Order: sequence, then structure tokens, then C-alpha cells
Amino acid sequence: MRDVIGHRRLLDRLGGHAVRGDVAHAYGIFGPRSIGKRTVALRLAQTLECETSTAGGCGTCLACRKVERGVHPDVRLVTRAGDRKLIGIEQIREMQQDLALRPLEGRRRVVIVDDASELDQGQDALLKTLEEPPDHAVLLLVTTTPAALHETILSRLQPLTLRLVPVAEIEEGLAARGIREASRFAAASAGRPGIAIALASGDGIRAERERVEAELYRLVGSGLTDRFAWAADLADESDPRRRADAIDLRLAHWSELLRDATVAARGELSRPLRPARLAETRRLATSVSADELLGATLLVERLRRDLGFNANARAMLELFALRLPYSQTMRAA
Ligand SMILES: [Zn+2]
Repeated sequence: MRDVIGHRRLLDRLGGHAVRGDVAHAYGIFGPRSIGKRTVALRLAQTLECETSTAGGCGTCLACRKVERGVHPDVRLVTRAGDRKLIGIEQIREMQQDLALRPLEGRRRVVIVDDASELDQGQDALLKTLEEPPDHAVLLLVTTTPAALHETILSRLQPLTLRLVPVAEIEEGLAARGIREASRFAAASAGRPGIAIALASGDGIRAERERVEAELYRLVGSGLTDRFAWAADLADESDPRRRADAIDLRLAHWSELLRDATVAARGELSRPLRPARLAETRRLATSVSADELLGATLLVERLRRDLGFNANARAMLELFALRLPYSQTMRAA
């Protein structure tokens, strides 16, 4: 199916059946978070409504676009409203009234319930529909925890269980979307395409950068015991490539932060490399000498070079832990 990363065999089979109109009245789409459950539900809905009868939907016809934007009159998403903890029973009743009517534009009426474990009393109400579904109805119950569904409900669902996706497939999927550094995001996603996509999007990158920046300030304010624990953690990654990537990511961010602080300590910072961190840069510059900051900056640059020659990661990180200047002020921050 179009634009779904992984689950190839299951989706090929499902898509093939759906195109021929061979669909069950109710499916349970199960699997861990960020694995692609909602996307699979949408693609199945598109398959059923698409004007060109393409497995996964063609993605370009009016019906496919309406489903994608959540405005197709025959495809309804039932989900927890706002800050409520559960899907309200009135939401199920309303859906059922709708479902009883013939489709307005498409061939079927499709209801996606996500997350179905949040139905609570809605489960009893839903059971009636599952027992006697209208001919044109297809229900897709999406959940991370199928065990929360009553046996009477579960037994009426055709299960589609999505499993963790091999990293190579995620990498391929990201690369096909034109995402650079696909292998890094794929590796970090631990088999969940949704996480890989979030990481690769701007938000993910910004969040990662902020996390790594904060890590330096925390280390500057930490004593040796904490610093060595940090070095051991980072060196612990057994995959040498992932370990090198994790270290390089930090050194790349930190070299800029330290350079800003060094220049600020000399009172010359007019164009910071990291303007968003100006407050921390100034605090660091007033609590550590310019010489010490320069030493740390040069050390980071040297370690980055050494990293390319497969240096002993742990020894490298411990050297960094020892030499990084200490600042009581950063500790308080
Ligand atoms: Zn279409």
C-alpha cells in the first residue's frame, strides 16, 4: 500500500482482497505505538472509496484526498475528544445512526475507532453493530492493547497485527521520501516507522538538538562521578556505528556551544553560532576562564577528528569528562 513503511505481506494481501470488494465487516488493527496502525486504517478506507480501485488508494482522486484530509462523508474517525480520557458513548451512538444510512459518495461507510481500548461502555453499544452490521459497513478498531477489548468484540474482528519493522525497511522508506541521514533515524526508531518520521521531521531534529545542548550544560555542572557514569553509558552502545554517531552528534553541537562561550569569555561575542543559547553561553563565560573554555573547544575538535579513526570510545569520553571545565553556576541552572 502507498506510503506505508513495512508490513508488506500483510498489506499486499489485504489490499488485493479489498480491491476486489472482499472485505470483512470489522477489523482489529493491533500493534505497538508509532508502528503505522492509523495509516493502515486510512489506506484501507482509501482502497474502499478510491475512484480508481487501487490497493491503498491512488492518493490523487477526489475520494482519496477527502479521506486523507478527514472530510470524506463516508469515512468517520471516532477518537477521544480533547482532554477526555475515554471515547464517549454518545460518540458511538451518533456514529451508529450515520452508519445505518447508505453511503453518500463512496461504496462503503468506513468507521475508524482509535484507540478502541478507550471505548469503555461504548464497547457494549458497539457490539450491536458488530453483531448485525449494515451491508455497506466496515469498522476498523485500532488499538495498542487488544486485551482491553471484550472477548465478544474481539471474536468478531478480523485481526491485523502489525509488528516492529526491520530497520533496513524503515531506512528504505525514509530514503524514498527524500529524507537525508535515513539510516540514523531508522536506527534510532527501534522498528517504529512513526518515530523515525517524527525524528526526521524538523521538530524531531530541534528537540534532539535541545536535548544534546542541555546535556553539555548538565555535564559542566556535574562532578566526576556523574561524568564518568555518563561516559560509561554512552560507550556502552554495542553497535560501533551507532556509538560513533551518538558521540559525533554531541561533539558537533558542543563544539559550537564551547566556541561561543570562549569568545564570550574574551568579551568579543557579537555573532553567536547558537543565539538561542545566549543566556547559558554568558553564564558559562562568566564562571569559567577563557583559557579553560578554549582548551575544551580544542579538545572537542580533536576528539571529533580521532573519532573518525575508530579511537577507543570509552577512553575518549573519559578524557572529555576529566578535562571539561566545571562550573558551579551551571549546576544551579
Ligand atoms: Zn483514489
